[in-house]
Formats: sequence, structure tokens, C-alpha cells
Amino acid sequence: MTSALPGTVYLAGAGPGDPELLTLKAARLLATADVILHDDLVPAAILALAARALVINVGKRCGRKNISQEQINAMMIDEARRGLSVVRLKSGDPLVFGRAAEEMDALRAAGISFQVVPGITAAFAAAAALRRPLTDRRNASSVTFSAGHHAPGSIPEPAPLAAPTRAIYMPGRDLAPIAAQLRREGLPADLPCVIVSRAAQPEQQIVRTTLGQLARVAPLPAPSILLAGEALREMHHDQNAVAQYVSEMATNKLQSAEL
Ligand code: SAH
Repeated sequence: MTSALPGTVYLAGAGPGDPELLTLKAARLLATADVILHDDLVPAAILALAARALVINVGKRCGRKNISQEQINAMMIDEARRGLSVVRLKSGDPLVFGRAAEEMDALRAAGISFQVVPGITAAFAAAAALRRPLTDRRNASSVTFSAGHHAPGSIPEPAPLAAPTRAIYMPGRDLAPIAAQLRREGLPADLPCVIVSRAAQPEQQIVRTTLGQLARVAPLPAPSILLAGEALREMHHDQNAVAQYVSEMATNKLQSAEL
């Protein structure tokens, strides 16, 4: 059972809108959290699961409200620092077109502990509604999620924004052929690659590497999935970010164990 912990922020997915498509974990967090900060797309039927929380709409849809991303970040950080449990509730999956990268950067920089709770992304709900597959071994071996709408001023997109993240299912035990294929496609040797074995299970294992080293990674227990892309680059590799993070942690007198 997952109850929201004090001083923790949960970036949680609300799924496509049907409350029954919410995860049990998200539902329990909604029931136990102190504060819920949600986007416009989250319907009332899901917010009704908030038993005791202060529920705040921080949606920015169509510019109707003037809550900036910085203000949302500050709200999450302030509330967590006051010892409250905070659910940052986003439609679909929080890590798909949800500005989660910026929010997680801010939480890391502030030394706030946070967790991510996945949700069913819109593409999966759409495919289910259509009763059509997103892959078919006879004619479609990949799916792409991309945004039709871009941040103002970002067209044409700078390279890091445009770079797709690959999620390669069934990577197999020998990663050399995939590594060679990605290199042939022109991806750089320093591209971050991560193998996640048994994700979200008690035996979960994560191996981080680069495309150049991928072929040398020892096999992990099945099932595993390979993620490759610039978006996976760890903030911790950025020395300035590490220095800032460590000094914030010291300022907050948080336990070094959390590092
Ligand atoms: N994090 C969300 C996406 C947020 S971007 C996810 O994983 O689904 C917002 C866009 O998602 C919407 O403009 C729309 O294109 C799509 N979307 C979200 N919920 C949807 C739904 N129930 N049906 C169709 N599209 C949806």
C-alpha cells in the first residue's frame, strides 16, 4: 500500500481520463496526499478521489491562467519543505509531454525527494478505443510519440529538443546488433543508453551506459527494455549541477543517505 510520505513530491500520471484507468498507486496517493497540484486535463471524477488534500489547478491551458512553470516548481518545493506530501498530477503519463524534466530538475536542485508514478499515455488509450494495435509484427515494428505543438520560439527545434528517445522492447541478450544499427543511423557514441530489467518489480535492475559501450553490457534478467536518447542524460553528470545539488542538500541539512 502506498501512502503519500511527508516532504515528498509524487509526479503521478492520471491516465487518459477514465478513473478506472488510474493506477492503484496513484489512487492511493490521491487519497492520502496533503496537496494535489493538477493540470487542466485531469477530470473531476479523478480529483474526487482526493479524500483530504488541498486541490489546486495549476493548468496553463490556452494561456487562461498565468501560472508559470517557475511558480509551479516553487509551489511544489515550498509545500514539500513545509513537510507536506504533494501529488503533482498530470494527464496520461507524467514523463510524456508533461514538462516533467523541468520539474524534476527543480526538485533535484532543491534537494526534495520525489517519485514518479507512471500512467497510461493518450496514445495507448487511443489505440484501445480504436481496437487497433500500435505495433503489428507483420507490418509495424515501432511507434513514435511526437508533439505537434512546440514551445514558443523553438521552431525550428534545436537538436536536443528534436532528438527522439528510443524505447526498444525485446532488445535480446546480445545488444551488439542494436548498438551497431543505432550507430549506422548516425547516433553518437556518447548517447546515453539505459537497460531496465524487470522495471517496477522488486528485482528491478538499471544499467546505464553509452551507445559506444552498449555492446559490452552483460545480459540482464528478462524481461528488459533498452532506452536510448539525449533525454536520459543524467543531470548528475553535469558538474555544475552536482555542485549546486550538493550545496543545496547541505543547506537543507538533509541526510547524506539521500544523495
Ligand atoms: N502526459 C500526457 C500528454 C500531455 S500533452 C499523456 O501521456 O497522454 C496533452 C495532449 O495529450 C493533448 O493535447 C492531447 O493531444 C493528448 N491527450 C491527453 N489526454 C487525451 C485523451 N484522453 N484523448 C486524446 N488525447 C489526449
